[in-house]
Amino acid sequence: MKYISTRGQAPELSFEDAMLTGLARDGGLYVPAHIPTLSAEEIAGFAGKPYEEVAFHVMWPYVSGSFSEEEFKGAIARAYADFGHAALAPLKQLAGNHFLLELFHGPTLAFKDFAMQLIGQLFQTALKRRGDRVTIVGATSGDTGSAAIEAFRGLDAVDVFILYPHGRVSEVQRRQMTTPNEPNVHALAVDGDFDDCQAAVKDMFNDFDFRDSVHLAGVNSINFARVLAQVVYYFTAAVSLGAPHRKVSFTVPTGNFGDIFAGYIARQMGLPIEQLVVATNQNDILHRCLSGEGYFKGETMPSISPSMDIQVSSNFERALFYAYDQDGAAVAQLMDELKQGGGFNVSQGAMQALAEIYTSGRASEEETLATIKSELAASGELLCPHGAVGVKVAKEHLHESVPMVTLATAHPAKFPAAVEDASGVFPPLPPRMADLYERSERVTRITNDLGAIEDHIRKHTKP
Ligand SMILES: *Cc1c(COP(=O)(O)O)cnc(C)c1O
Repeated sequence: MKYISTRGQAPELSFEDAMLTGLARDGGLYVPAHIPTLSAEEIAGFAGKPYEEVAFHVMWPYVSGSFSEEEFKGAIARAYADFGHAALAPLKQLAGNHFLLELFHGPTLAFKDFAMQLIGQLFQTALKRRGDRVTIVGATSGDTGSAAIEAFRGLDAVDVFILYPHGRVSEVQRRQMTTPNEPNVHALAVDGDFDDCQAAVKDMFNDFDFRDSVHLAGVNSINFARVLAQVVYYFTAAVSLGAPHRKVSFTVPTGNFGDIFAGYIARQMGLPIEQLVVATNQNDILHRCLSGEGYFKGETMPSISPSMDIQVSSNFERALFYAYDQDGAAVAQLMDELKQGGGFNVSQGAMQALAEIYTSGRASEEETLATIKSELAASGELLCPHGAVGVKVAKEHLHESVPMVTLATAHPAKFPAAVEDASGVFPPLPPRMADLYERSERVTRITNDLGAIEDHIRKHTKP
């Protein structure tokens, strides 16, 4: 499989190169040159199979040519060996036709472990074979960073630098980033918000001297390998609810549009997904855009679901690429308008294409808190604030004939203050990480200045 850029001006790459590179050199995002499909029989055959086996079948067409079957199966097995639930992504029933897909049983208690653990194994395999090393730089609103650090800690072919907005991540998120003591792990607390961190990472990728000198690699959700790993659980969930013989809908708490875009890929591969519902918190640029108001940046407002506190949603570029019939020049123009003028309008044709696939809703802070409380009473499920945003919006899109699956993206113990505030119940950490609050922390506070950040990285990268 070859990978092409959403802006049409970067060289086509193999899966391995696209994975190791992250952002394309024309500023675009890599997508597969075509989306492979699975027949109804193949999808039906996933019923009752272990998660790892489905994972191999769903992802293999995208990675073959870059990894051998054995390498890829080994990477999958190692990636998911440390999860705290035998089903990896268990499905729970909330109400008659509403289900919760628990994606928080990985080592950092958020869905990002599904992709990051696999990427860690694939990087290691590829770099070892090449005798190469890379510097991974990522921006995080909390969960990506902890998942990346957990996935790459101790790997000798990789230095990992994670930029997070100082004071704007939860204590559990921060501790998951600052307590690993391997020398290849570097947590950077930036004086700014998540969009500043994300912009700094993008700027580093566009600084080709710097990019080449430290062998920069990205594992943010712009990395297609991340999206790919997330496609799998749409299949396992839908199949356990009767797909491909029955349609299923999904509601996805969304920030950077990576997780929900994986749902789009699953749908294009042949999974009968009826609705893909985008659920945003008060930072609702995606909801506004899908409601026909154009894509215009506002101020990022800190919320109790901080992993969705963004105004520029990186992976939405991929959705636009398909909505604009894979016209890279049109996408490049929109992204230029976004950079120059803070936003753009979506053409009528593209809006129509988006509306065929996505719908959306938003949850205010009050509604999120109220949903945590009411869901605990209704089903006994203690939701994290991100999952609660999803459940609130999902309830506005329920249909009798099609089961709805809401993605629970994090464990409630990752956001204990908001959960306790809403429900009166303090969610304990799972026993395997109960000593997190006692471990000592290591972090560098840094100003929101590209030069300062690049200097720090140069100085702390192993040659
Ligand atoms: C990252 C994250 C999200 C948003 O996912 P995207 O792929 O960026 O849309 C939602 N919830 C949690 C807990 C997250 O960590």
